[in-house]
Amino acid sequence: MPVLNRIAGLSEEMATWRQHLHQHPELGFDLHETADFVAARLREFGVDEIHTGIATTGIVAIINGQKDGPTVGLRADMDALPIVEETGADYASVNDGVMHACGHDGHTTMLLGAAKYLSETRNFAGRVALIFQPAEENGGGGGVMVEEGIMDRFDIEQVYALHNAPGFAEGHFFTTPGPIMAAVDTFHIHIKGVGGHGAMPHDSRDPVVAAVGIVQAIQTISSRNHYALDDLVISVTQIHTGSAENIIPETAYINGTVRTFDPEVQKMVMARMQEIVSGMGPAYGVTADLNYEVWYPATVNDADKTAFAATVARNVAGADNVVDDYPREMGAEDFSYMLNARPGAYLFLGAGPGAGLHQPGFNFNDRIAPVGASFFARVVETALPL
Ligand SMILES: [Zn+2]
Ligand SMILES: [Zn+2]
Repeated sequence: MPVLNRIAGLSEEMATWRQHLHQHPELGFDLHETADFVAARLREFGVDEIHTGIATTGIVAIINGQKDGPTVGLRADMDALPIVEETGADYASVNDGVMHACGHDGHTTMLLGAAKYLSETRNFAGRVALIFQPAEENGGGGGVMVEEGIMDRFDIEQVYALHNAPGFAEGHFFTTPGPIMAAVDTFHIHIKGVGGHGAMPHDSRDPVVAAVGIVQAIQTISSRNHYALDDLVISVTQIHTGSAENIIPETAYINGTVRTFDPEVQKMVMARMQEIVSGMGPAYGVTADLNYEVWYPATVNDADKTAFAATVARNVAGADNVVDDYPREMGAEDFSYMLNARPGAYLFLGAGPGAGLHQPGFNFNDRIAPVGASFFARVVETALPL
């Protein structure tokens, strides 16, 4: 079965919603206009319950089927990114320096399309929990919704989510059982030295040289301390220090990201980084402090639910258009918290050629919205047959 006819008929309406959301992007947990727009559409569709204000601006809406049965959770993220838009679209962002550069406008739209269809047709025995979350990009809104108890409160038994994937074949699905996205941590290193004249370094304690030494030493964690076949990325992405060519600064700041799958590898990185920072501060005659923050856990798909989701995806996209052994990625996703709470699956939906995620020229491909909405709708009808 290809895209559901009724959902194909919603294509233009979905593009209108998507472009409205695109034009009015919001950040993090502050998605008040976005959440109002979503709740207004859900009210129009006649869903049975709308619960707002979860994790600040998150929403869980319930659609009851024709008979009793379990509850399937479907997740969309709603937040945008702090990027200046360069798409040139006539519905480009009106909010300066904020844009939907990850396609969450499209994810929200796909779930709204499924909601409209499911509340019209209700060809299922059980309930759908439509989960619209804030702060996927930064802040772990999905984790906060889980902490606030949505899984128990709404009796959610299994969960599914999609992410659009530019550069992948349009309308094709990509997933894998087990780990699909990495755990992400961040680290901050603050170095305090003694500033001075650039011509008289012997009177200072130079934080610049200490920062360079620490960054070099951090590289040895992945090259020397861990087993080569375990997945690990450590990237130092920021060094901030200094103000002029003849001034040795007082302080330096280092920041970066760590990506792992295995909690043992993550523990090793934390321990080694602490040893490096604690040891190298005194070695350079400065003080160096590490603040290591554990962020999103790895996104781990349930094997059975992934096989089920791949079957549904084949029904929607065609038997040859679903990859169910897609290699895992070092990116991260806070749907991981929901998958830690309930079995389910996360899939990528190919968006065809175009600018990549988080680029100023990125724009969600409206043609894949009916495919994603049909997938969500068929997940429900297939998991909860009448
Ligand atoms: Zn993103
Ligand atoms: Zn995203």
